[in-house]
Parts: sequence; C-alpha cells; structure tokens
Amino acid sequence: MRLLIMGPPGVGKGTQAVGIAAHYQIPAISTGDIFRANVKNATELGKEVSRIMAEGGYVPDEITNAIVADRLTEADAANGWLLDGYPRTSGQVDALDAELAKTGQAIDAVVSLVADTDVLVDRLLKRAELEGRADDNADTIRRRMEVYTEATDPLLATYRDRGLLVEVDGIGTIEEVSARITSALDAKLG
Ligand code: AMP
Repeated sequence: MRLLIMGPPGVGKGTQAVGIAAHYQIPAISTGDIFRANVKNATELGKEVSRIMAEGGYVPDEITNAIVADRLTEADAANGWLLDGYPRTSGQVDALDAELAKTGQAIDAVVSLVADTDVLVDRLLKRAELEGRADDNADTIRRRMEVYTEATDPLLATYRDRGLLVEVDGIGTIEEVSARITSALDAKLG
C-alpha cells in the first residue's frame, strides 16, 4: 500500500496519517517531522531549514527530494508507506514519480483532506497556544496558507487526473474524519 495524504496546514494530516499507517501497517513518513527532528537536534540540515520553516516557506526541492528518496530505501518502507506532507511542489511530484519508476512502484491513492482555510487558521492559532510551535505564529500561519494555495493545492488536480484522488471532508472529530478516510479508501481500493 503506497499512499499520500495531502491538505492545507492545520487540517490534521499528521494525526490522520498516523491512524491510516497503523491501519495498513505501513510507516507514516512525515517530511515536517524529519525537518523538526533535525532542527531540534541542531544538525547541519536543521540549521539549514530552521529559518525557512519559521517563516512558513518551503524547504528547497533538492533537499526535500533527497531526504525522501533516502527514507524510502529503508527496510520498513519496502512493502508500503504513507507520505505525509510530501510532495508539496510540482518538482517534488516529478521527483517522486522518477524515484518510484526506478523500482517499478506506484502510488495506490492520494487522500485529500478538505477544509475551509478560515477554519484552519483558527485551529492553527489555537494549536500554537497549546504546543508553542515556533512555526505557528500569526504571520507564519498566513504565509504557510499562501504557500500551500500557490504551490501545493494545484497538485491535487494532477492526482485527480490520474484517478488517484480520494477527497475527504477534514472537519470533524479525529474519529469522524478517520472513519471517513477508511471508508473512502475501502471504496477506492476494495
Ligand atoms: P508540516 O509539519 O508537514 O506542516 O511541515 C512543517 C514545515 O516543514 C513546512 O511548513 C515546511 O517549511 C517544511 N516542509 C515539510 N514538508 C515539506 C516539503 N515536502 N517541501 C518543502 N518543505 C516542507
């Protein structure tokens, strides 16, 4: 099972990714988590990306693509994975396609969590208070939403054209959204 989960900042991708991955017994691979871990541990990569993240921008494709390509060669990813927060640019879509083509792998479905951006900005501000995330101040939240709308939202059409997109209403409790995703994926994949 090879899946992507996409959606605007604050829609709950990370939480749902963990649930879906557990359900299918595949690893959830989050580029955001990988970057945050590097920032926390002050690695070379962390130093390179911390400012970009704090400003709500995207880490350059060549860095992000190399990290994902590398992660996909690890043993736990041999039989499937769920990518959370990747790809986010058309360059990343191309890089992922090229990477999968090397080993004859294919994406089975792309879960798109759908929600109104005003609702999400509200959610992100609340989460910022609770978790104190450095990339969640009001300016950064706005920037992240803009970058998403410009660079990532158009990618949904690409996956829709390929017949891979599974759209799910992202507003509801964690359990409600999770149940919607599971039944939509069951309907899609059988
Ligand atoms: P996330 O937790 O997925 O929202 O990611 C947090 C931050 O990490 C993003 O706002 C970006 O700065 C960076 N990031 C995560 N994934 C990517 C990606 N695929 N491409 C570029 N930057 C990314």
